[in-house]
Amino acid sequence: MTKALYPGSFDPITNGHLAIIKRAQKLFDQLIVAVVHNPNKDMLFTLEERQALVNDAMQEVGLEGIEVVTYNGLLVEFARDMNVDAIVRGLRVNSDFDYEFQMALMNRDMAPEIESVFLMTSGRYVFLSSSIVKEVKGYGEKISHLVPKVVDEALSERLQSK
Ligand code: ADP
Repeated sequence: MTKALYPGSFDPITNGHLAIIKRAQKLFDQLIVAVVHNPNKDMLFTLEERQALVNDAMQEVGLEGIEVVTYNGLLVEFARDMNVDAIVRGLRVNSDFDYEFQMALMNRDMAPEIESVFLMTSGRYVFLSSSIVKEVKGYGEKISHLVPKVVDEALSERLQSK
């Protein structure tokens, strides 16, 4: 049985993330989405809120059977504890590549038994990131084609109260 972990900040989850989850689910018997707790990064949503939004978003688009966990600390250690075969990451633009390449090599050095698997984004999500969505929404623009409804609503609420 193959088991994979899809880690990220998911602040918040977008349709780009969901597309990767959907494709990764087809490749592995078991997929786990892991939301990182990174106290050094400034997040709009708390860890629990990000985790809940991932669950709600997956439910909204009919993705079933995927566990959503949170983790702290070094990804590769967590992946090893979870006994996964692979770490899934999405690739959008060239700038993703340098960072991901470095991380993948470092992770392989620490845990050679865990494979890094990269899924290339689809054309329409190339420009899509959580930060872009937050920025555009902050200016009051429509983002309903980029994120699930639950995320759009959570962003409206959060940005209003800011
Ligand atoms: P991180 O802080 O770990 O990069 P993100 O939530 O920004 O967390 O991204 C998690 C993963 O999802 C990364 O591998 C990122 O490249 C990928 N990703 C984010 N947005 C997209 C998208 N639009 N298309 C494909 N992959 C994406």
